[in-house]
Order: sequence, then C-alpha cells, then structure tokens
Amino acid sequence: MSRVLNAFSSRVIHASSRSAAWRISARSVATDDRGGGCAALGRRWQDSAETVIIGGGCVGVSVAYHLAKAGQKDVVLLEKSELTAGSTWHAAGLTTYYHPGINLKKIHYYSIKLFEQLEEETGQAVGFHQPGSIRLASSPVRVDELKYQMSRTHWHPTPQFLITPDQIHELFPLLNMNKVLAGLYNPGDGHIDPYSLTMALAAGARLYGAQIYHPAPVTGLTPTADGRWDVQTPHGSIRANRIVNATGFWARELGQMIGFQHPTVPVHHQYVVTATVPEVKALKKELPVIRDLEGSYYLRQERDGLLFGPYETEEKMVLQDSWIRDGVPPGFGKELFESDLDRIMDHVEMAMERVPVLKNADIINIVSGPITYTPDLLPMIGPHQGARNYWTAIGFGYGIIHSGGVGKFLSDWIMSGEPPYDLIECDPNRYGHWTSAHYLCAKARESYGFNNVVGYPKEERFAGRPTNRVSGVYELLKDKCSMGFHSGWEQPHYFCKPGDDTGYKPSFTRTNWFGPVGRECKLVMERVGVIDLSPFGKFTVKGEDSHKLLDGLMANSLPKVGQTNISHMLTPRGRVYAEVTVTQHAPGEFLLITGSGSELHDLRWIERQVSDGGYRVSVFNVTDEMGVLGIAGPNARKVLQKLTDEDMSDAAFRFLQCKSIQLAGSPVRAVRISYTGELGWELYMDMSNMSAVYEALMATGQDEGIDNFGTYAMNSLRLEKGFRAWGAEMNCDTNPLEAGLDYFIKLNKSAEFIGKQALLEIKSQGLKRKLAFLTLHTDDIDPEGNETIWHNDKVVGNTTSGSYSYSTHQSLAFGYLPVDLLNIGQKVEVELLGKKYPATVSQEPLVLTEPTRTRLQKKKRERDDR
Ligand SMILES: Cc1cc2nc3c(=O)[nH]c(=O)nc-3n(C[C@H](O)[C@H](O)[C@H](O)COP(=O)(O)OP(=O)(O)OC[C@H]3O[C@@H](n4cnc5c(N)ncnc54)[C@H](O)[C@@H]3O)c2cc1C
Repeated sequence: MSRVLNAFSSRVIHASSRSAAWRISARSVATDDRGGGCAALGRRWQDSAETVIIGGGCVGVSVAYHLAKAGQKDVVLLEKSELTAGSTWHAAGLTTYYHPGINLKKIHYYSIKLFEQLEEETGQAVGFHQPGSIRLASSPVRVDELKYQMSRTHWHPTPQFLITPDQIHELFPLLNMNKVLAGLYNPGDGHIDPYSLTMALAAGARLYGAQIYHPAPVTGLTPTADGRWDVQTPHGSIRANRIVNATGFWARELGQMIGFQHPTVPVHHQYVVTATVPEVKALKKELPVIRDLEGSYYLRQERDGLLFGPYETEEKMVLQDSWIRDGVPPGFGKELFESDLDRIMDHVEMAMERVPVLKNADIINIVSGPITYTPDLLPMIGPHQGARNYWTAIGFGYGIIHSGGVGKFLSDWIMSGEPPYDLIECDPNRYGHWTSAHYLCAKARESYGFNNVVGYPKEERFAGRPTNRVSGVYELLKDKCSMGFHSGWEQPHYFCKPGDDTGYKPSFTRTNWFGPVGRECKLVMERVGVIDLSPFGKFTVKGEDSHKLLDGLMANSLPKVGQTNISHMLTPRGRVYAEVTVTQHAPGEFLLITGSGSELHDLRWIERQVSDGGYRVSVFNVTDEMGVLGIAGPNARKVLQKLTDEDMSDAAFRFLQCKSIQLAGSPVRAVRISYTGELGWELYMDMSNMSAVYEALMATGQDEGIDNFGTYAMNSLRLEKGFRAWGAEMNCDTNPLEAGLDYFIKLNKSAEFIGKQALLEIKSQGLKRKLAFLTLHTDDIDPEGNETIWHNDKVVGNTTSGSYSYSTHQSLAFGYLPVDLLNIGQKVEVELLGKKYPATVSQEPLVLTEPTRTRLQKKKRERDDR
C-alpha cells in the first residue's frame, strides 16, 4: 500500500499516454500513414470535394472511411498535424455494447461489429481485445438499475446478461466479492488500441478512394452563395459541397470561424497504468473489464498489469474552462495535463479494496488527457441549423466506442438525405443560444461527476439551472412546483400542496409525484387547470410561397384560414421527422408549433426545404418572445368567457378554430385544442403579457375551481385519450401508418409532399408491425417506454411510452407489436424492473376526448328529442 501511495503521490507530466514500447509496437503495426502526409499535399491537392471532413481523430477518419466505402467520390479529410493527434491519442480504448440510451446502443453495436472485422478488411491490426465487461452492483438500488437496464435491452441484439456473484467471481477471480450483489455482463466488450483503430480506418478510407491530407490545418471557412464552402488551408482552398466538423476539443474554435459557439469543453480525465502484477500474469485468460459503479471507476487488464480510470466527483474534477475563453493553446495536441493523484485517492482506495492485488502494484504511467464534454455528455452528430451543409461530429466523451457507429450513421445520412435511424438525443440542434458558457461548464462538471450515479427513470439534474430562457410565469410558479428542464426552459412537472412530500425523489417505482399528479388529472377532468406551455418551439411562416412550401412539407392538408390541425413532416423514406401543430391565422400566414425538444431540429428541416426549393417565404423563430398558456377542463370555457368579449361558446368557437382575442386586456391568439383531450385552449401571447393573463385566469377562475397542472398529468391524460407523442410513438424509426396516424396523412392530396411516394409503397406492401394500446395491472410501477414486450417467452416488441391512468386505475402503455398480436384482448407481458406483468391489447381511447363526448351527447339528445 505505502509503495502504491508513494508511487501515486508523484506528480508527472507525460508527453505520451503509453509506454514507449507500446507506442512503437502500435506504429510498427499501423504502417501506412505515410500515404497521406506532406508528400501527398504537393502531389494530389484537390481544389474541390463533395465532403471535406475536418479533423483526423478516430471520429473524422471513420466518417471518411464510411463515406468512401459507401461510394462517395471526392471525400477529403484535412488534419492539422497528424492523425490521432487529439484525444484519440490518449484514450484508454474501452469498448462496450452497453448504453442506457436506446438508439446509442445501435451505435455501440455497429462499432463493435466493425472493429471485429476491420483488420481483415484493411490489413491493419487494431489491437481489439474482447474479454467482456461486468458492471458491478453492490447495493439493492444498483441491482434495480441493472434490472431496469435489462428490461430496456432484451429487444436489442446487444448481448447482455444479469449475472450472480459466483459467476462474477469465476470471470474475475481477483475480485473481493464483499457486498457484490449482481453484475451486468456484456461478453463482447473489451478495449481497442485507438491509434491502430484510426490507422486502420484511414487505410480503409484510402482504399476506397478518400484523400487524407496532413498537416493541413483549416484556417478559414467561407460559405458560398450556392450553399457550398470554401475551406482555407495554408496549401490552398477547397470548394466543398459540405463540411464535417470533427475537430474534437478544437470544435468550438472551428465553429467560431462561422459564428457558432458550440457547447463543448474539455475535462481532465486521468487513468493509471501499473507494471506487471504477478497474479494477473499468472491468469490463463484476460480479465473482463470491471466497472465498479459505487467506486465510479473502470479497471481493465493492460498486458500483464492493470489500467484503472476513475471519474472524480463534480467538486473535484477539473474542467479546462479557460480554453472556452482563450482557445486551445497553439501547439497543444498530443500533450497531457498535469496529473493530480490527490484528486483520485478516494477511488484508488475503493479500487484497492475491490481488487486487492492493486495494493502491491507499481505505477508505470499516469495519463491526464482532455476529453470533450457537452452539457449532457452526448455527442453532436448531424447537420447544424443556421448554416447550410455544415455538419458536426463533435462532443465525444466516448469517441472510441462511438467512432465506428457514428461514421456509418453520418455516412448513411449524407448519402440518403435522412438519418438511418432516430438519434434525436445526439442532434446538434438540441442546443441553442441559451447554452451559455456558464451553463456548459456547470453541466459538464455535473455530467462528469455523475458518470456512474444511479440512472433513474424521469431523472432530473439541476446544475446550470435556470438558464436565461425563462417563461413569463416562471417567477410565479417556481416555488409551487417541481420543475423539469426542457431545452433551456423550466416547465412544471407537477405542483405541490401543503402536506405533500415535496422535492425530487428519484425512484424506479412510483414516488412522491404520484399523488399530486392524480390530483391534477382529476382537476382537469372535473374542473379546470392551467399549464405553462411556453417551451413549445414556435415559428411563423409567411410569403407568397408559404402554401407551396408547407403543402410539400406536411403530410396533412393545410388548415383553412382561422383553423388549426396536426400535421407531420415526413422523411423521403416515409418516416416521421416531426409533428407540428399548423395554424393559418391569416391568408398565407402560418404559425407552426412543435415540441420543446425539436425546435431547431424542425427549423433546420424547414429552412433546408426553403433554400433547396427557392421558396419566397419568411420563416421566423418566435420561440423566445411568444409565451403559451394551456387551459383545459370542463370549466375552461366559463373562465375564459369571463375575461373576454369574444363568444367562446361551442357554436362560435369550434374545436380546432383559431381566433385573435383580447383576454384580460392582452392580445392573445387562442386555439381551441388541448393535448389533454379535454375542453381546452392554447393561448399564445407576447411573453411580457403572460403573467398578467395567468393571474387574471387564476383570479377569475376561483369559482370554477381553477388550479395549476404540469406535464406529468398531461402525459397521463393524453395516454388515456390515445394521443401519440413525437419522439416516443413516432420518430425517424417509424412510419405514420404503423404509428396509427392515418387520420392525419392525406395520401390523396394533390401536393407531392415529402415521403408520399414511400408511404404509398409501404401501404401497398402492408405493415409488419403496428402500435398497440396496452392496459396493465402492476403493483407500484408503471411503464415509461422502451421496455420489452414478451409473448410465450419470446420478445415480440417494445413499449414506447406509458403512465398510470388515474381515471381507470391501471397502467397504460403504447408499444409496437407484430400485426398478428394486435387483436383486442390479446394477452402479452411487459417487463418492468425484471418482472413480467400481464398486459392486454385494448381498444383506444380508454377515455373519450371532449369533442367526441360532446358530439355523442349531442347526437343522443337529438335522438331523444325525436
Ligand atoms: C485519458 C482519456 C481516456 C479515454 N478513454 C476512452 C475510452 O476508454 N473509450 C472511449 O470510447 N473513449 C475514450 N476517451 C475519449 C476519446 O478519446 C475521444 O472521445 C475521441 O478520441 C474523440 O475523437 P475525435 O476524433 O472526436 O477527436 P480528436 O481525437 O481530438 O481528434 C480531433 C482532430 O482534429 C484535428 N483538428 C483540430 N482542429 C483542426 C483544424 N482546424 N484543421 C484540421 N484539423 C484539426 C486535431 O489535430 C485532431 O487530430 C478517452 C479520452 C481520454 C483523454
């Protein structure tokens, strides 16, 4: 131990992350980096390209490899110094199938399958080891977390198993099993040599025709009038149809060349390599990688020694925030930060307790390198809103394992014009101008420190909040509710009353929000509730081509003047790119409303069609200046009527009508629609008028029993009504026909909207799966979405979202099932936290919507009168 502490207390700065011997062997294997060096610059400099990728780390090179392999001509990669001369150089190389996110599992899966065959394909060794990995659970809540993750993984090809302490010990005999309760085992996991991986991808890229130039720093970027780019380097410039920013921790600087402030910041990540450990050397096979969740570190075998990498707490970790202000120091590339072992001593002690042979191990290397963090630790992959043909592949905290899958994802997207599958959590457009440096740093710190915290459903994180994006009623509501974070906004999840158990209490089962949400559902069903909907994305579209533009974008017919409808923007392959509420408030003038998470994602799509089609329209993003209040419930009309001279009666203000009215003296655009399915209006107004309107509603509605409600109640109410949610029931993985959106899709409208031909084809071929509405009887747990659906012990589908239904006292879920299991009454099982609960395919909706109820009542009255 003292030997270890002595070794650990030294402060070391290394120019290389690995022992010289290791590095030499890697380079001697990866021999053909010569082809793209200086010699090539004079010989074959291209002055035009289809795609220019900027940055020669594992990510950029993978994009080049995949594009060239897919057959794209004129793929050029520009690297400012030498390939791998950024984070890639230092990486510990861990690879895993595991990811708690659903779509990112696909990225991991593809990468591993690629790594397995890359050496054979390119002739370059990649040093890929697959001894497996085990995530250790040493507390009951961790066991729940593993079960939760298993229920979200069975429907993926990812090989992953929950194993017992005995099985863990058999796989990793050097482990102290004290307190270990279970493990999550991924047999195909391991580690790869990042340098050799990048060289193999580069060899493949060249093999398929890509040009790789280095040293070739990009010094300037100029957009051209026709949407292309002039990419400047000291060797000359290249005219590119598109550029991909893959510059790792320089991403911010490259973005700044064209006016973006990408929210990326380097953090210091340290790992320690030991000399040979006799007990490790004596083993007959390589140890699996261990991830000790309580100790927050990973540990793997490195030759006959061990490699140990901890994640410090948010207080202790170090952020290189000066680079946000000053940029990366010139000349910094493969260099390291100063290591500081005091910061990781807590983790060292836990690791020595868990793997006792560490106590006698000698340290031969300490690495402290820059990892690029975004606020949520997810990369930014795809085309960026606000600049034509500018793509990003930046912000990689785990770029080695992501490199393969991301290269393929982007290449497929570039080649086909749409993402191959949904990866909305990595959309670069999830951030906007609200992502300040302060927010970025607070969040990156939290994300690093929380690397191994328990991942609960409905998880809330609080660093960096609130941002400068504040709703007009935030100050009035903030002390009354539990807020959720939505694209920079604070939005009430549920409201608390005296006697409630308040605060954020995460749990895998129902927790303190359950009672209050039930109260709010009852409020909306029986009286009247108000909800802050300001986080919606809001755009205005007007101009002589507005009809033409929107008719080609939306699969629904356009609403008449004074009307609103729900429309979907589809991809060319007929998948659901977005769901938008469209209102034509004046001839040729439209208001488009989308969810908070899809604001810039949708705007980019619209702007792209505008520029491609040369439409004469003006599109404005009015998200920040327009506030929205929703009012819903049987008394909603009565309350509004007291505050306006406008006739709010059913006959005068029909469902899906839109009118400009004066409400409590403020101009408001009122749309009769509510996602709760109850009688309701969405009230759009200037943000500065919101608090006055809100206070007037609350004061005036006292006799009607008015109160607040939040998004949790809205989710339960919309599920009871069978309303789909974008991002859950529909996304780029689903077409609107299987999502049961037929009503909104007008295949017979004359406009040739995007996706129409594909949908006609899908329709003619018939569907293989469809969205089912499931009712379940559980104990104290409800589906959240992404759980496995079983039938006869076989995986048959997955849920997409779920909730408790307070009106019918059971759990609800939407889920995709094969068409032969869709009959009403069909029994299946939904796995929640390791237990399979019986579920029944049920008729939707469970509760009729108010317009339908009103219509049926009217018909009944007419029948009775006759
Ligand atoms: C200590 C440490 C351990 C890690 N361990 C793991 C791990 O176990 N598993 C894992 O998956 N990930 C790991 N990572 C993270 C991983 O290394 C990175 O996510 C990944 O390497 C990022 O690759 P990249 O291609 O995006 O960026 P980089 O590797 O940083 O490459 C960016 C490249 O862009 C070039 N460039 C910059 N500006 C310009 C310009 N203007 N013109 C031309 N070229 C330019 C740079 O020279 C550089 O070569 C680790 C990182 C560190 C530091």
